[in-house]
Amino acid sequence: MNAHAGATPSTVRTTCPYCGVGCGVLSRPDGLGGAEVSGDPDHPANLGRLCSKGSALGETLGLETRLLEPRLHGANVSWSTALDHVASELSRIRAEHGPDAIAFYLSGQLLTEDYYIANKLMKGFIGSANVDTNSRLCMASTVAGHRRAFGADTVPGSYEDIDEADLIVLVGSNAAWCHPVLYQRMMRAKETRGAQIITMDPRLTATGESSDLHLPVAPGMDGALFSGLLVHLIETGLIDSAFIDDHTENFNAAVTRARQIAPDVEATARACGLAPEDVLDFFRKWATTQRVVTLTSQGVNQSAQGTDKVNAIINCHLATGRIGKPGMGPFSLTGQPNAMGGREVGGLANQLAAHMGFSPAEVDRVGRFWAAPNMARKEGLKAIDMFDAIASGKIKALWVMGTNPAVSLPRADDVRAALGKLDLFVVSENVASNDTVNAGAHVLLPAAAWGEKDGTVTNSERRISRQRAFLDLPGEARPDWWIVREVAIRMGFGEAFDYDGPAGIFAEHAALSAFENDTARDFDIGGMAGLDGRGYDALEPTQWPAPVGEINGRARMFGDGRFFTPSRRANFIAIEPPVLPASPDDAHPFTLNTGRFRDQWHTMTRTGLSQRLARHRPEPTVEIHPDDAARMGIIDGGLARVSTKHGAATLRAVVTRTLAPGALFAPIHWSDETAGGARVGSLVHSLVDPYSGQPDSKATPAAIEPAVAMRGGFIMSRRRVALPSGCIHAWSAIPGGYAARLGTDAPSGDLLAALGVCGDIASYRDVARGIERFATIGNGRLQSVLFLGGEVDETPWTGLLSTWEASTLTDAMRAALLSGRVDANVEATGPLLCACFGVPEKVVRKTIDDGALSVEMVGRACRAGTNCGSCLPEIRKLMAATLAPV
Ligand code: SF4
Repeated sequence: MNAHAGATPSTVRTTCPYCGVGCGVLSRPDGLGGAEVSGDPDHPANLGRLCSKGSALGETLGLETRLLEPRLHGANVSWSTALDHVASELSRIRAEHGPDAIAFYLSGQLLTEDYYIANKLMKGFIGSANVDTNSRLCMASTVAGHRRAFGADTVPGSYEDIDEADLIVLVGSNAAWCHPVLYQRMMRAKETRGAQIITMDPRLTATGESSDLHLPVAPGMDGALFSGLLVHLIETGLIDSAFIDDHTENFNAAVTRARQIAPDVEATARACGLAPEDVLDFFRKWATTQRVVTLTSQGVNQSAQGTDKVNAIINCHLATGRIGKPGMGPFSLTGQPNAMGGREVGGLANQLAAHMGFSPAEVDRVGRFWAAPNMARKEGLKAIDMFDAIASGKIKALWVMGTNPAVSLPRADDVRAALGKLDLFVVSENVASNDTVNAGAHVLLPAAAWGEKDGTVTNSERRISRQRAFLDLPGEARPDWWIVREVAIRMGFGEAFDYDGPAGIFAEHAALSAFENDTARDFDIGGMAGLDGRGYDALEPTQWPAPVGEINGRARMFGDGRFFTPSRRANFIAIEPPVLPASPDDAHPFTLNTGRFRDQWHTMTRTGLSQRLARHRPEPTVEIHPDDAARMGIIDGGLARVSTKHGAATLRAVVTRTLAPGALFAPIHWSDETAGGARVGSLVHSLVDPYSGQPDSKATPAAIEPAVAMRGGFIMSRRRVALPSGCIHAWSAIPGGYAARLGTDAPSGDLLAALGVCGDIASYRDVARGIERFATIGNGRLQSVLFLGGEVDETPWTGLLSTWEASTLTDAMRAALLSGRVDANVEATGPLLCACFGVPEKVVRKTIDDGALSVEMVGRACRAGTNCGSCLPEIRKLMAATLAPV
């Protein structure tokens, strides 16, 4: 029986656990451990819409990959044994080596209450600020830019501003794939009101393809582009002098620097690798459109000059007074569901709590509020420095909560090696196996997953929403806040951690935000401090600030021209001249950019369980320009080995003109748990922004060469298994198991041994053609399949799926099994374009070939694009390619 069974089968309003759009979700549990999921029409972030990832949430609730019991050195133990061990070892290490020998590495997947209590334990009671979070990889440069310009980490606007803008500028953001529901709002503004969309990205992404203007700005040069814009605004007299005089400072220094960096259109164009007429077009549109929103995401943040990029953009909004008013402002799109919540509670090592820092007055204030005996008095180590300190032995204990640094951090191989040096390595996790768990964790603590836990998250527009449980806790899984509380109690801090649920933690968090605030700090949700359990349960999505007397929150900040600096004026920042942080050289002549796919999330621990999400892009790829591919002997669909000074990965090559010569692009999602040799994090250098400590993940010097595997083929298995080293593969979820296309030199015997299945083995060999086929049959059904040799497409197992799913193999199925014939009922294989309705790209192509002249006609003919809309950019692209005059 599924341990989730027994949940009340009524609809629960909760929030999507993926991106920072923060869509409201309606979950209807089926009482059997599953749930039907749909968009919440009453949630202001999405008004009922979900993207392909959110729509597939119901497919990710299974327990087959879950960690369901505490483990100590590989053995299942009771909670008390595990918690006693963690608490006593943390106390011992603190006593022997001091508090800075301990570190917590947290996650934007944690709920605010989990984040708050972990931060409080570390910074107030253990006595170190060595708490950092994977948001360091995501948002830290925006935080630093906000604090430099506004005096606080304040997102000025709301999603409504995107609805109302006449010009939407996306810098380093593939919103069509990474923030799809918000992107649909942008497209509605374009289609219904004629809003213009301009995209700046070295790659032509799905977002760029739908834009009115795409500027393929050279890597790292966004700061030059916006410096040029600032100069243009001044030259054309389109600045707001009254706003600058009354509400800002440091304007002249910023302008002087901007003139040095980008004195005119031609200089800007040269620096950015753009056509001067395109630069001028952008300048004119931005300068003459009052309602302009400039959205930024990882292309800006994940840069060694990310903070300067953020400030170069804010400078232009301050110069025109376009901030704090409807339809205008700089706007950061957060990557994770609760990156903002983490920032609010001090999840970053350089922040304390409630948006306070480490000034003596702030340390004193938080210490008094917490009645904390051991307040940290200085900033802690940021992520890269934290893992370097683990490698050097300075940090001896690490507690990782809800994240996978052995995959996601730059120099991921070094990170994995460092983890092996720890005296105490604790991981709170949903899953029993991932690259971090498998890096030698001493203690595994089973944490509640989405659907099982209660708390709050904050989205990109400062909106606090409830995540509500709709499933019972499976096995011994417990909420993260409970796990931290139990360790705190065992370390002797029980009085300060006497919480009986997330409502009490939230109330304390809200009270701290208002404590001695008096409008001095932006983050004030004192109006929610009095919520009792019932009020907390019923909390509606609310934007902060919500101080006492203002419980409904505020949509927009800075409308009064008052900021949170000591002078209450906004700061213009004189940015440093933009440079590429690491130049390509003879050995590494390419620049590797990394990013996301539409239908996967982070390291795939959840989205990797969904069959339909697996079919959009089933394999990790490297994109390369055709000229480079021809020069390097790389063929489209072949294998390519990408290497840097830090590591190597073998990926499927995609030859495309969507990126410039000299550039490579690879997705971040695959790990050793889900693929072979495809951990792109191991390739990325660890250069960081000097203000934010955020690593540059977009421009690592790299080499590429063809990779040859002796044989292709595919494998199907009831569970993911570890294949022999050097076997190129990426697991896709299929009904009742997993499948992977192979590129391998391994003998079939080694692969069969890796499958580790028992039962009857049927085999077929054609030595002359190099073909071998094996099928293992147990309990009357297929248990595993291994086909080697011959031609294979992207999802070569599709023709075997009906046989794979059969509960009992018929004689006909047995006879046909090894013939290599495809199921006659399978019309189309290959990648899915529409994940919602399972429509393959081939079907959409055929629909267009058959005469569909619009996305609406495609939708009527095959349903593609008629639900979440995430695939609409790809349908438009296919139509443009097919219908273009020849
Ligand atoms: Fe979830 Fe998609 Fe909404 Fe992001 S846009 S919160 S992934 S449904």
